[in-house]
Amino acid sequence: MGADLVISVGDLAGDLEREREFSGTCEVSLRLGDSTVKGPMTVTGVVVGTVDGVQANFRVAAKARLICVRCLTEWEEQLETEGLQHFSVTPDENGYAIVDKEIDVGGAATDELALSIPATPVCREDCKGLCPICGTDLNSGPCDEHGEDSGSPFAVLKDLFDS
Ligand SMILES: [Zn+2]
Ligand SMILES: [Zn+2]
Repeated sequence: MGADLVISVGDLAGDLEREREFSGTCEVSLRLGDSTVKGPMTVTGVVVGTVDGVQANFRVAAKARLICVRCLTEWEEQLETEGLQHFSVTPDENGYAIVDKEIDVGGAATDELALSIPATPVCREDCKGLCPICGTDLNSGPCDEHGEDSGSPFAVLKDLFDS
């Protein structure tokens, strides 16, 4: 994890009156299906004191490389999401805790970023996809042999009668 996402909280923990802004980056490499996030993740936020520790409220951003599940077009998209993570001296179920008066926000931010990766990205809402028979990109017009009706049972019947 990036050292600038390790935050000293010795003076914040247990003090409800205090808070500290932070920002930093770290390299991540994530994958969900064909979607990948590889490169720097930027995290900005604020750490506030709570009764038994601190809470980090953060915003995380990174560039994802996505592939349309319909037409296989590739593009880059900026992912942005928010999260919050509480830290106390006792580790939570994910193992996050205050260790040596420091917290590492990188892990929690990476978790949150991973949840924001689209599992089935489409390049646009009305993407027509590829012809299932010949692979022509139907966004650039219907293919020659398999017209608009290629998906219907009648088209199959028509083919039978034509031959
Ligand atoms: Zn598409
Ligand atoms: Zn076709």
